[in-house]
Amino acid sequence: METNTTLDADVIVIGFGKGGKTAAHALADAGKQVVLIERSENMYGGTCPNVGCVPTKMLVHYSGEKRLEDDAQEFFARSIAGVRELTTAFRAGNLAAMNGHDTAMVLTGTARFADPHTVLVGDGADAVTVTAPTILINTGSEPVVPSIPGLAQSTRLASSTELIQGDRLPRRLVVIGGGYLGLEFAAIYRHFGAEVTVLESSERLLPREDDDVAQAVAGILAGDGIRLVTGATVLEVRDGEHASTVAYLVDGETVEIEAGALLPATGRRPVTAGLDLEAAGVEVTERGGIRVDEHLRTSQPHIFALGDVNGGEQFTYISLDDARVVLDQLLGTGSRSTTDRVAVAHTLFITPPLATVGLTEHRARTEGRRIRVARENVADIVAMPRAYTVEETRGLMKFIIDADTDLILGAALLSIDAQELINTVALAMRFGITASQLRDQIYTHPSSTEAFNEVIDATVA
Ligand SMILES: Cc1cc2nc3c(=O)[nH]c(=O)nc-3n(C[C@H](O)[C@H](O)[C@H](O)COP(=O)(O)OP(=O)(O)OC[C@H]3O[C@@H](n4cnc5c(N)ncnc54)[C@H](O)[C@@H]3O)c2cc1C
Repeated sequence: METNTTLDADVIVIGFGKGGKTAAHALADAGKQVVLIERSENMYGGTCPNVGCVPTKMLVHYSGEKRLEDDAQEFFARSIAGVRELTTAFRAGNLAAMNGHDTAMVLTGTARFADPHTVLVGDGADAVTVTAPTILINTGSEPVVPSIPGLAQSTRLASSTELIQGDRLPRRLVVIGGGYLGLEFAAIYRHFGAEVTVLESSERLLPREDDDVAQAVAGILAGDGIRLVTGATVLEVRDGEHASTVAYLVDGETVEIEAGALLPATGRRPVTAGLDLEAAGVEVTERGGIRVDEHLRTSQPHIFALGDVNGGEQFTYISLDDARVVLDQLLGTGSRSTTDRVAVAHTLFITPPLATVGLTEHRARTEGRRIRVARENVADIVAMPRAYTVEETRGLMKFIIDADTDLILGAALLSIDAQELINTVALAMRFGITASQLRDQIYTHPSSTEAFNEVIDATVA
């Protein structure tokens, strides 16, 4: 017999991602009855702590620790076990924290809309119907497999999740796509000892960065032994007994290489399939994200969409900021919006990391701005002995400065500690601290930040 439970809540949150859980905690703290629905018991806390940022950055760390004498396979398996231990603990912590609220409950099951105020969870006897006046959608994104003949059927096709959950280090990894995810995986697996080839369709790596920055990144990756092929069109994948053959076209010639694992890293699409958004009257854009306004309200004003699913930038800290915007609507003054965001930084976690914020030199010049460019190679920065003390002197630091106002327009830091440094630059940009003020600040020693004492004066153009 079918027993169908019905729950009436104040707020339903669909998806246990960063934005959803942050909002759920705050709403429960404010006394709201919150039902948070997550489809997988392996995903409490969402993508970031389970299969995204946390495990990959731990693998960046582990792979950097590998010594030449370590057995690559054994070292990799041990690293994956370490990652598993951490993600298991984080997952449990996420669930416990949510269950720690008197007014919040977690339902495990796949959610779909029945009507604009009703969500169904699961099927059959265990199905639960939840109603609420306010609903938050935070269902994240999923990888896209490009339509390359033979790729989807290949037994060696591996998503980023499958790669980091498998115990076996592939001897040869082919990464299709040289974006953030592709390059991070390429560097991790190369450092663990795999032969890695990156096939990128653009004529050069990181087409959105300046030439000098992209070239420096390419030099570091190639120096680590990663084969970077730009201007490559992947034609087909053929599975063989011991490896797959990947055929690609470059400079008018067809080249074939073998792969033990194939990672498509050509983008992720918002997860909306199966949500029955039509039943709720929630619209999606042509690009597949849920259509939202600057307050993250969907086409149904009582339904909000946060994080990757709304088609914005796919970063955990954007999902977190989405939660701030939604919470301001639900509990605050309603003034906060996504248009408030300035100087949002990004980090590519290779070694050393590339962290960027604001305008590139190319973009600033294209916009016709009068700029001063300051740049120095890390190895030449006298004020930054830290690079030498930790034996990582590769990279460069570059600032784009408004020649009239001395305001910082952008920065690209390819350097040890860049993932931390960039937040100081972003803060300066956000609060109108000038380049000279950033230069003349007292920084601890020996730190990486003290490079700013020098680099900002190193005018090259
Ligand atoms: C390999 C990798 C590395 C990354 N590294 C970084 C990084 O270093 N820094 C960074 O900022 N970002 C990184 N990202 C991106 C970041 O992980 C995402 O932008 C972020 O996690 C998105 O969070 P979210 O709040 O949108 O939802 P998610 O965290 O994706 O959560 C969505 C949840 O919804 C659940 N769900 C989906 N559909 C349903 C349904 N119908 N019913 C119930 N539950 C459902 C899913 O199971 C999932 O748990 C990385 C991503 C990947 C894949």
